[in-house]
Amino acid sequence: MSFKFNVDKYFKGKMYLFGCMDGWSSNSSKNAFSYNGNPNIEVKVNDEALDIAALANVVYTDFLSGDASDYSDDGYGCIGDILLVPGVNYVSYKRLASMNTLVKDFVFVGEEVDSEWGEGQAVAAADGSIAYVKYQSNVDNRVKVEWKALDGTMAEGSSNKSGTPDGYLKLNSNTNKISYAFNFDADLDGQLYQRGAMDGYPGNSSCTYFSQTKGAKYGNFEMKVNDSIVYIGDKRNVSYGDMLGTSSAEGDASIGNNYSEVKDWLIGEAFLKNGANTASFERVDSYNLAVSHFVFIGKPAAKAHVNPAADAAFAGQDADSHWQQVEGDAFKFNRGEHRWVADADETDTESTCTVKGVKHYKCEVCGMKKTEELELKAHTWVSDEDLASTDTASTCTVHGIAHMKCSVCGAKEAQELPLGEHSWGDAQTAIGDAVPHECTACHAMCYELTRATPDKLKADVTWNVTGLPAGTYEVHLYACIKAGTNRSQNLMSGDVSRYQFRFDEGDYVNTGNKTYEQFGFGAGENAASCAWTDALCNVVAGDAAASFTIHWTDKGYSSFIVSVRLVKIA
Ligand SMILES: [Zn+2]
Ligand SMILES: [Zn+2]
Ligand SMILES: [Zn+2]
Repeated sequence: MSFKFNVDKYFKGKMYLFGCMDGWSSNSSKNAFSYNGNPNIEVKVNDEALDIAALANVVYTDFLSGDASDYSDDGYGCIGDILLVPGVNYVSYKRLASMNTLVKDFVFVGEEVDSEWGEGQAVAAADGSIAYVKYQSNVDNRVKVEWKALDGTMAEGSSNKSGTPDGYLKLNSNTNKISYAFNFDADLDGQLYQRGAMDGYPGNSSCTYFSQTKGAKYGNFEMKVNDSIVYIGDKRNVSYGDMLGTSSAEGDASIGNNYSEVKDWLIGEAFLKNGANTASFERVDSYNLAVSHFVFIGKPAAKAHVNPAADAAFAGQDADSHWQQVEGDAFKFNRGEHRWVADADETDTESTCTVKGVKHYKCEVCGMKKTEELELKAHTWVSDEDLASTDTASTCTVHGIAHMKCSVCGAKEAQELPLGEHSWGDAQTAIGDAVPHECTACHAMCYELTRATPDKLKADVTWNVTGLPAGTYEVHLYACIKAGTNRSQNLMSGDVSRYQFRFDEGDYVNTGNKTYEQFGFGAGENAASCAWTDALCNVVAGDAAASFTIHWTDKGYSSFIVSVRLVKIA
């Protein structure tokens, strides 16, 4: 069952169930709502489960005040201490095991309180500055501790408050680290929160969590308490949308870098021990963080914790993480994601074209092992001499067939070859600067654009192609090197595309970069030209003054000459 309701103030009090329970004599070992720490029911208030196990407040004999063969007397049974907060509250009640319950009403009896937390008590550090502020819950035995980020010691890196509100510390590079040392007067189990905001920007939307990094490795930051890492790996409780505070005036992903809503972000579980404690927070990857406080909310520990740093063994593992755990203590500390390295104790195998190889890994922290299957290798194709006599060569219109065999495993495959070159016939009457050639085999047409005097790359090269037939043309650029050229130059390498094609006044068609080697220069200074196809141009019918231009975006090269062949394909 669940309820949802509004209240306008804080109320602390007790929740009662009005009803009766079904008892029978042979079930007397289950004599309470909870027995030996095993709750028969679950009650949640605002998504937090009440500690029913600790209550054990309804005993079997209470149920059986009537007749053991029947239901108990009806009446009120207390099911827990609860806190109602201003605004919407959710209460749910669920049977987990054991006895039937007949329920008529739920009743809350409580009193108004000013707030969830009492007045803060500043606890001075040895040097007289405020080391932390401690709050006692108005409703239960919880304690809240707050440290101000700006009061921490910047052990490494530097702080930078630009773009953050007053009182915030901005961690804007890796190894920026805040540390605290403080004394505490009790053992407390609880949870750590970071109060502050994160810096999100739209281009970084793949990084969606506190616990997810650009490198998808071990977390965007590390919080350590008493040298134990507070594990955030599987929490992933802060989504990118939250970071960008879309419901807040702060943070709009669409306008560039911005900070999220300021709130308490849950980092993970931690404990504080009676005596000296240390805490540190370090940025290790990715986002900038604007931090105002670190907040710990905990309650007295059921048992004293040992010092985790003194216990070297990693006692627990799952597929993603490892942790330390003291026998009999549920608390998991020094939890972290596995750090996989090659396993020197095992022999890796390479893939062949028929058998997948295996790589062995070991977690360098806890020793857990895993294996990874590798992809099959490609076959090593050679001509299949048994069938080579049936191979056919490509022409410019028909794909040839080559019968191949893998020299490693013997697999066979008939492979289709690329189309062959056209056989361009004699030059026909020029159309403007374009000289037509017809393929003697398939009658395709190409139009060559050349110059009697070689053009240097220092200027754009433009041809008049008025009167070319309408259609789509492949553009083949040819280049050759002149004698005496410094051949260490890469004609087209680098980050910018150095040449572009344009028809008429239309947009330039950008092409990819080509390296010197791709020109295929052979031995000798006047090496043969080479060509490639990487652009298409459309010529419109009836264009009275068409031109074709090669535009050099970087005119630093003077020793190459070029020509263009336009092959009509449609
Ligand atoms: Zn591990
Ligand atoms: Zn093979
Ligand atoms: Zn042809």
